[in-house]
Amino acid sequence: MAFDFAQTALAWFDQHGRKHLPWQQNISAYSVWISEIMLQQTQVTTVIPYFERFMRAFPTVTDLANAPQEDVLHHWTGLGYYARARNLHKAAQQIAQMHNGIFPTDFDAVLALPGIGRSTAGAILSIAHHQNHPILDGNVKRVLARFFAVEGWPGNKKVEDELWRFATQLTPSERIADYTQVMMDLGATLCTRSKPKCEECPLQSHCLAFASGRQVELPHKKPKQSIPSKYTTVIIPMLFDRVLMTKRPEEGIWGGLWWFGGEFTSTAQKLDNLPTIYAALGEQYTVASTELLSEFKHTFSHFHLHIQPVILYLTINKVSEAALASSMSNESVSKPIQQWVDFSQPADIGFCKPALTIFSQLKQR
Ligand code: SF4
Repeated sequence: MAFDFAQTALAWFDQHGRKHLPWQQNISAYSVWISEIMLQQTQVTTVIPYFERFMRAFPTVTDLANAPQEDVLHHWTGLGYYARARNLHKAAQQIAQMHNGIFPTDFDAVLALPGIGRSTAGAILSIAHHQNHPILDGNVKRVLARFFAVEGWPGNKKVEDELWRFATQLTPSERIADYTQVMMDLGATLCTRSKPKCEECPLQSHCLAFASGRQVELPHKKPKQSIPSKYTTVIIPMLFDRVLMTKRPEEGIWGGLWWFGGEFTSTAQKLDNLPTIYAALGEQYTVASTELLSEFKHTFSHFHLHIQPVILYLTINKVSEAALASSMSNESVSKPIQQWVDFSQPADIGFCKPALTIFSQLKQR
């Protein structure tokens, strides 16, 4: 009898599949959507507490649509790839306006939402509404590339098209929600990037990578490209236990998140004359002293950023009590959008990961 890929995978799912993840309870298109977006680029164990907090804060699409962006970014702080959070928020607003707050059930309408690609649309509609759509996320690409010994890097359009053809052919007409789940489970739990557990895998008898011992080689890696380094000297004006932070523009890196001053440059910056660098602070302050914190590296998909934080310890020049109170008030400093942040208990606003690293450096001084 011919090997039935879907039935074999489903039989394994009945015994070993994951059925207790938080987004597998009280399933709705909304909860599947949030989990799918969080799971892009992020491990299940990391996602679980973020997902639970997010769903408590924004239990429905309408709650998410009505929330300030600041709040949404705050609930994403530490997860990285913040465009995902901004797109979720935009998509929720579109659903509120164009679909009366009800998550659409039409494939093309789902695909038209910001941040949702073909695989995510397929996963949402197959899991939440039992519609017959294939998926091809990173896990499924790996399983299929190995099972069929597909040559080439899956990011390459031709290779990806071939994988979509396999994914479509294999997708069964019944038990589609379980099939979608088992494909993700196989990739996440058995057919892992390194050290796949082939001895436990239900697909082993027909897996071409296993037969030829090429599990580690497949799928082929992205052709190596060296990424450039950039540098930034991060100026951290500090007054008492607060640091002055600036909201980044909506577009670009860390859009809408809070960060310090400083440009990204292609060579390391000179650190002499630091006290004069932050002239923009105005005449109210004097830089009493400076302190270098440890340099660290943050890697984006297209460059490494070497971050050198420098604290400017400020004192206040002779000003009236009112001017002092006003200088420390979060509302008072408005051009550009800035606020004094208590680094030991940062406010409920969105920070990028390097900001959290700097907060912990500040606490450990
Ligand atoms: S046999 Fe091994 S390589 Fe093949 S699909 Fe299963 S886990 Fe992956």
